[in-house]
Amino acid sequence: MANTELDPTVRVRFCPSPTGNPHVGLVRTALFNWAFARHHGGKLVFRIEDTDAARDSEDSYHQLLEAMRWLGFDWDEGPEVGGPHEPYRQSQRMDIYADVATKLLVAGKAYHCYCSTVELDARREAARAAGKASGYDGHCRDLTTDQVEVYRQEGREPIVRFRMPDHTIAFDDLVRGKLSFEPENVPDYGIVRANGAPLYTLVNPVDDALMGITHVLRGEDLLSSTPRQIALYAALAEIGVGDGSTPRFGHLPYVMGEGNKKLSKRDPQASLNLYRERGFLPEGLLNYLALLGWSLSEDQDRFSMEEFVAAFDIAKVNANPARFDLKKCESINGDHLRLLDPAEFVRRLVPYLQAPGLLPAEPTAEQLDLLAKVAPLTQERMVVLSEIVNMAGFLFVDPADFTVDPEDAAKVLTADARPVLAASIQALTELADFTPEPIQAALREALVEGLGIKPKFAFTPLRVAVTGRRVSPPLFESMELLGRAETLRRLTAALELTPQA
Ligand code: GLU
Ligand code: ZN
Repeated sequence: MANTELDPTVRVRFCPSPTGNPHVGLVRTALFNWAFARHHGGKLVFRIEDTDAARDSEDSYHQLLEAMRWLGFDWDEGPEVGGPHEPYRQSQRMDIYADVATKLLVAGKAYHCYCSTVELDARREAARAAGKASGYDGHCRDLTTDQVEVYRQEGREPIVRFRMPDHTIAFDDLVRGKLSFEPENVPDYGIVRANGAPLYTLVNPVDDALMGITHVLRGEDLLSSTPRQIALYAALAEIGVGDGSTPRFGHLPYVMGEGNKKLSKRDPQASLNLYRERGFLPEGLLNYLALLGWSLSEDQDRFSMEEFVAAFDIAKVNANPARFDLKKCESINGDHLRLLDPAEFVRRLVPYLQAPGLLPAEPTAEQLDLLAKVAPLTQERMVVLSEIVNMAGFLFVDPADFTVDPEDAAKVLTADARPVLAASIQALTELADFTPEPIQAALREALVEGLGIKPKFAFTPLRVAVTGRRVSPPLFESMELLGRAETLRRLTAALELTPQA
């Protein structure tokens, strides 16, 4: 698909705060920004909003970077790649924010607010009781020098509050269309704490202005901060911070989780690490996340990132909340798994066998060969890579550690299974050629014809005995890969497990 909408002036940003583990909501935001930048041939700025020392952590910062790399995103400016607006970690830009705050104060765009929390709460309660707007009431907007002196004498430490204009703020949201906010609903707000620490409300728009961001694509939860930021932009333009333009905003729909509740970052279902551990492919997970608010076409759910980038249009994002459907996510991932060529599929499986110790850090050529043989038998049957552990673990486990799933054993390795196991042991011991076809023929003859058991019932005990569970790769191939000696040993061990009738 040709990219017909090149606009290299596009500059978007992905600017997470490094708190906790990366979550899927964050990934969806990164994805849409990345796709928007790549679609237009513009730039993606990766900025770390780590001004909240109490909540931010270095560990979380490294996780973010690692997650972005794993997902396959590239960025044009930011950590590790640098750029003209360095540094890209807000914790290293504190002098910039202090300077801007001072300029805003000097220009009268912001003011010191001396109200204590107790006073603010009391006035808010009173306003609420009187049925009035309960945001900040403008108490400190125009304090006289005498009043300020009194507050200082009392030892009060002021915060810096931004002075909102008293007119309607309207903008055309790229996703939601025209929106407008009345001044009584957007009161003056704090931009610097009493201890001098700048807040998100200041640093985010200041950096967007300084870094020349043209489009802000972010979650709907941030919609209420947009009128404030638009007003701040106008003030920044007046004091000469940035180039004077205001970005276009596009608010991405909420993602709803279980029980139709907003998927929160604390939701275990939202943790990116969980998806990595379960063995989602980055391309599968991203394909699914792209569908949260967007679609390629009615009849095509699976697509590559190239297709997504080529087709992505922010104007086509749906404003309605999107539902996170794990089953759908898995099924799309399964589709991507099946697209992998055999060697690549094997390469991706290795870490999932290493995690539980079924493969060593440096697998031998023999082990890789065995994996290459069993992998095609599983590729059609999995939705996530970690399923390889249950499906093919029986081939890699140390024979001394091999156990049968207790539940499956209880159900299947009953007294009825004894003759089946005994006849199979005999048939397979005598078999000349231990390959799938002859194995199947010999077992059919012994069990279906010999004992008169239906194939469905005949082979289940064998499957459980040999692979440890009822769900496994095809039985006869599994036996071949395991080898005759070990197959017989496991059948014998299972026979010993079964109760005498
Ligand atoms: N650091 C903010 C957050 O993670 C960024 C919000 C924005 O995109 O403006 O919520
Ligand atoms: Zn005040």
